[in-house]
Parts: sequence; C-alpha cells; structure tokens
Amino acid sequence: MKTDDARVVVIGGGLAGITAAIALGQAGADVTLLEARPRLGGATCSFHRDGLIVDTGQHIFLGCCSAYRGLLAKLGMTEHAPLQDRFDVTVLAPGGRRARLRRTALPGPLHMLPALGRYPFLSWAERAKVSRPALAMRHLDPADPAADTQRFGDWLAARGQSERARRALWDLFSVSALNIAGDDASLALAATVVKTGLLGKNNAADIGVPALPLGELHGDAAATVLAKLGAQVTLGAKVTAIEGGAIEVTEGQQARFRVRLGRGEGADLAADAVVLAVPHEKAAPLLPPGALPAATVRGWAGLGASPIVNVHVIYDRPVTDLKFAAAIDSPVQWVFDRTRISGMTAAHHGAPGQYLAISLSAADEYADVPAARLREQFVPALAELFPAARDAQVTEFFVTRERRATFRQAPGSGALRPKAATRRPGLVLAGAWTDTGWPDTMEGAVRSGLTAAVELRHTVLTSTMGVRQ
Ligand SMILES: Cc1cc2nc3c(=O)[nH]c(=O)nc-3n(C[C@H](O)[C@H](O)[C@H](O)COP(=O)(O)OP(=O)(O)OC[C@H]3O[C@@H](n4cnc5c(N)ncnc54)[C@H](O)[C@@H]3O)c2cc1C
Repeated sequence: MKTDDARVVVIGGGLAGITAAIALGQAGADVTLLEARPRLGGATCSFHRDGLIVDTGQHIFLGCCSAYRGLLAKLGMTEHAPLQDRFDVTVLAPGGRRARLRRTALPGPLHMLPALGRYPFLSWAERAKVSRPALAMRHLDPADPAADTQRFGDWLAARGQSERARRALWDLFSVSALNIAGDDASLALAATVVKTGLLGKNNAADIGVPALPLGELHGDAAATVLAKLGAQVTLGAKVTAIEGGAIEVTEGQQARFRVRLGRGEGADLAADAVVLAVPHEKAAPLLPPGALPAATVRGWAGLGASPIVNVHVIYDRPVTDLKFAAAIDSPVQWVFDRTRISGMTAAHHGAPGQYLAISLSAADEYADVPAARLREQFVPALAELFPAARDAQVTEFFVTRERRATFRQAPGSGALRPKAATRRPGLVLAGAWTDTGWPDTMEGAVRSGLTAAVELRHTVLTSTMGVRQ
C-alpha cells in the first residue's frame, strides 16, 4: 500500500477525536472523522439563545496543560485563550469577605506560600499546616496503584487538614478539577493535579480562560484545519458498529475494518485503522468482539458519570468588576463574567447589563432541580457575594445541565481506564476517560488523541504512511 493510501476513520469529534484526526492527517493518512452531532467539539460546545452565545459549560485550563495548548496553537487559537500572567484567584465569602490567592515570582512550591500564609479563611494553626500535604505529595507517585485506592479527603485529614481547611481551601481547586466532592476524589488523580499545578513550575497553575465561545475556539477552528488537511468530516453520522476482519473493498483490495453508520446517515466505510474517541458508555457497545476482554469492557460501567450544572444570571447592570472568582461558605463554587464573550449587546438586553455564569461541579444535588428553585437559591447567594447585585434586577435566568460531564473520578477509577491499544491491530481508543494519567479534562482528551495517533503510527500505519512534517 502506498504512503497516502491508509484510510483512517476517527469516530467522535470531541477534542480527543479532533486531535487524533489532525495528527493523523498531518502524518499523511486519508482521514474521515465521523461525529454523531451536527457540530464538532464534543463536550466543549456553544449554542445561541435569545441573541447570546452560551457555552453549555464554562471551561478553563492551566498553564501546565501543554497538550491542550499545543492543540490551540494548531487551531490558530492561542491568542483567543489567554493565560493569566500570574495565578491570581479572588475567593469570595458571604458578607463581603474576600481573599486573593496570587502567586509570587518565586520558584514552585514557594510561589504560593505568601498567599497561603495570609489566607484569611483559615486559622493561623490551619495555615501553618497547609504545606504538609503539599510537600508529602512530592513522594507520592500518581501511577502507583495504591494511590488509586485512597480517598483524597482521608489522605488530607491524615496530614493534619481539618474539615475547614479541606472545604475552604483544597475543595476550591479539587472539586472543579476532578468534578467530584473533594473528600471523595481518587488520591491518584488529585496527586496529578497538585504535583503538576502546585509543585511544578511556578507558572503551571496560571489560569487560562477562553475569550471566544467554545464552539468557535474548538469546533469551528477544527473544521477549518481538517479541511485544509484534506480530511473528510461528516457530521450527523452516528456509528452503530465496527466490524473487524479482512473486509473486501474492491477486487484484490482489503481493509481491516468496516464502520457502519445509522440508517440514512451515509454509506458504511472501509478502514485500515480506526480511532474510537467516544465516551466510555458509547464505546463499549461499538467494540468488535475480542477487541478487549469482555470483563474489561463491562468494567467501564464502573467509571459512571458526574454532572456539571451552569447557572446563567443576567443583570440589568454590572454587579462586579471581577472576570471570575471562587466562593466559599456559599452554594456558588466559581462564577465567571460572560458579558463580552456572549456577545451581549445593549440592543438585546438593555444597557449596560452583566451576564454571570455560575459553574457547579460535582452537581449531583442540582442536576434535577427545576430552574425556578435554583433561581430562589442562587440569586440571593450571588447577592451575598456581590453587594451591588442586591439592587440589580435579574433580567434573564437559565440553567444548562451536563449530566454525564465527566466520569466519576473516585478511588478505583484508575484501574478501569483502558490504554489506547486494543487486541485488534489498527483499532485504538481515545477519550478523556482512557488511561491518560490525567483527570477527565481537555488536557486529558488531547493527550489521549495524540497517544492514539502515535500508537497507530508505531503499529499498523508505519508500513503504509509517510510523514508530512
Ligand atoms: C460542563 C462541563 C464543564 C467542563 N469544564 C472543564 C474545564 O473547565 N476544564 C477542562 O479541562 N475540562 C472540562 N470539562 C471536561 C472536558 O470538556 C472533557 O474532558 C473533554 O472535552 C472530553 O473530550 P472527549 O473528546 O474525550 O469526549 P467528548 O467531548 O465527549 O467527545 C466525544 C464525541 O463523540 C461523539 N459520539 C458519541 N457516540 C458516537 C457515535 N456512535 N458515532 C459518532 N460520534 C459519536 C459525541 O457526540 C461527542 O462529540 C468539562 C466538561 C463539561 C461537560
């Protein structure tokens, strides 16, 4: 088979599938990307509502997310996803109390110590103990299976972290990074976050906030890049089966796989290699028999799902100057100013209003609560944090719910996450839920897509593909 003859089908147009498709397209493969929904981007998506562009879920990333930032660069989007020049988070509490956690220019982990030493929501004794677990993390290997059996909360408590310290400090970052109540998170995944973000380079935890709606930042940009690479992108194409074996394509020409689509969604495709980049509950029924042990595939159900809810509140006037903030002693976890990014204009929404989105991770208790009840809870909660909101009118209020936002990143989950390779040469897995060592995040998704592409290039595609640099 000649260099450019390798037909690769990528199933799933989230960040994992997009990354794999770009990497394989750049390496010279003939790539087709199949996405069930009418758009690319997967869990990172936007929609239009009454003149606003709304992200279904606010996303952020960190300076240490090197793979994700690499994807942004390939998409030509680096400047639209700026990083803070220094980690800097304002923490609000009801009654106008606030703190600022801002790193210094010192090398990590010293860079956070001055801010933590002044953190007013902990007692002096609690502040004095904060560095204990941070330093203990140095000796913890996130890849050690023993770390995957422990709860982060128990581990913190055993290192002198009071209930208050866990709720008012550690939860601020672990709940949003791992989408699970802080005490319940897998120690292994928490260790990845703490070691990379807190103990790594001093700019590792600097926060990046997209300045464009996610649909533009990822989905639209990926469609343009893939088109330039000559990849075929088919939207609204739901794969119903992957069949393995020597498939006759034309006389004398065979392919390893046939990818079947739903009725009316196009012709089935023959492929030399397949990247299956869909969530675990969708991947399990698509795998051909024998691709992985049946018990392994059944085990994926144990990864479960954890919801994220976003509460969107639009005021008739500005209520805060902060671009984003975290909160403690409040049902609000993190809140973001989305006025500019949503394209909110005075013409549509009255001037000069402000659009705030509250991001609620590990949101099991809110996932099924009606919007009216959430309004009764969250509008007063915002007024407690932002005194100016007390006199402002709420002109719009709506809620977006992602019930399966991530897998449940609890102890034991690490053992259930599969590697990219399967027993079928040419069939590889990708997705933020696979064994990336990272939490279920954009960084994890991009890493998985790169790993899947490398796995194919080191195995079945080496003999058939050249590399276009
Ligand atoms: C509300 C919310 C907030 C989040 N916040 C953050 C954050 O702040 N920072 C961060 O890093 N991460 C965050 N995440 C997590 C992050 O979005 C995900 O980890 C990442 O986007 C997953 O990418 P993926 O490609 O693995 O999967 P997905 O994005 O789920 O993509 C899988 C794709 O496969 C498609 N598909 C499924 N079945 C089929 C089929 N049979 N045929 C064809 N296509 C199919 C789906 O339609 C989907 O587009 C958040 C997630 C949510 C939901």
